[in-house]
Amino acid sequence: METGLTGGADIRGEVRRAGSGRSSRALSLATSLALVAAVAIADHLTGYQVRLAILYLVPVAWSAWRMGAAGGALVSILAAACWTITFSSSHPYPHAAYLYLEGAVTGATFMIIVALVARLRHALERADERFITVLKALDMAVQVEDGRSGATLFANRRFREAFGDGHRFGQATGEIFDAERRRWYLVQARSLRWIDGSAAILRQISDVTDERNARELAARHREAAHRTARLVALGELATAIAHELNQPLAAIATYNNASLRLLEQGSADPEELAGAMRKCRDQARRAGAIIQRLRQMLRQPLPTPSGEDLNDVASSALELAEPEALEAGVALRLSLAPGLPPVRTDRVLIEQVALNLVRNAIEAVHGLPPERRHILISTRTEGQEVRLAVEDAGPGVPEEIAGRLFDAFVTTKPGGLGLGLSICRSVVESMGGTIGYERGAGQGARFWVRLPPAFPEAG
Ligand code: ADP
Repeated sequence: METGLTGGADIRGEVRRAGSGRSSRALSLATSLALVAAVAIADHLTGYQVRLAILYLVPVAWSAWRMGAAGGALVSILAAACWTITFSSSHPYPHAAYLYLEGAVTGATFMIIVALVARLRHALERADERFITVLKALDMAVQVEDGRSGATLFANRRFREAFGDGHRFGQATGEIFDAERRRWYLVQARSLRWIDGSAAILRQISDVTDERNARELAARHREAAHRTARLVALGELATAIAHELNQPLAAIATYNNASLRLLEQGSADPEELAGAMRKCRDQARRAGAIIQRLRQMLRQPLPTPSGEDLNDVASSALELAEPEALEAGVALRLSLAPGLPPVRTDRVLIEQVALNLVRNAIEAVHGLPPERRHILISTRTEGQEVRLAVEDAGPGVPEEIAGRLFDAFVTTKPGGLGLGLSICRSVVESMGGTIGYERGAGQGARFWVRLPPAFPEAG
């Protein structure tokens, strides 16, 4: 009969049971009998006045706990017999039947205690066995360590296969690289009371090498995809750089021509000239900034977007497009919503996007009757995002290209490259925003850009 779980389990995953050995059982029996004898002597010496017989329950219960029901029953019979014989020696019964009856009642009481203790012991053993069975069957490696000495109390098959007996992980938890096996392990540890009641540490170890490799591979793929996307955007940008630089160069030429005309006419007002020169300088700086951004995009990562006010962007776009608009006889108007939250964007690039939209609008209304040659640049909040829109009173986007408007090389203009809107989309999406087109309030076109706030509100 297996009794008593002490000292935990050995590292082969088997629960070691103290008391199951023959010598241990003999020792338990000898101790129980010595206790019975001690109680009998004490009871006899006190003349049975203190009712010490109750103390027989100690060896009875202890033997049942250590040796099981059979051992407990044997000690019960001996204890009952011992009490009956010693007690009857000083307390004569009127009839022998009373003596036997009292002995039988005492023995039966002891037996009931034995049955209860043995049952309790059995239930505890089953619970511990269930616990050990679960630990053994777990698909991950499990090790139980003594809380104080660090000795291994239990290790399941998975653990022994992977690390051998007695491997120690120390205090480390989390993802750990095992240089010897060249594998990654996720180590989780928690304290628990082991089956013998001592403080222990339960450690679960799972091999996460494949998972980690898959994660790294996915990250590399993502990075490669980002690089490709960036290269595509760069390709577009490089092809279109001439397109982008055209505008500041054309503006510089226009201001220069105007200044020259004033000088040639001899009516040059120094203040007017200085104003034109300053505009020339600003346009040249702008061209420089566009090239600078391109160089930054070539190096990774992209310039970190900062918090910008879209109202300022809208005003700059208007100012930048003004010379072209003036030449084409187009009126530019602003409608700015007050108190916009700053948006997460790159100032130069987003200005370039707005300018592209305004220039497309100017081209759309060019040559139309004066009452249709006007463009509205507006801003407003939409939920947490901020929207900048450019609306014209032109003919609107031709139906046949409306679905592919933001694809590269889609154009209806004779000398057009069809890259402006696709660059705009690349830039806006790289800032986490969206760009779109809808029919304007009249028959014209409305292009809009929505950007996320630089400091989103929680919730
Ligand atoms: P490009 O200007 O070189 O043609 P874009 O990508 O800027 O390239 O524009 C693509 C096409 O979208 C234009 O050819 C035009 O047909 C249409 N489009 C863009 N903006 C407008 C607008 N405001 N109104 C009407 N059509 C437009």
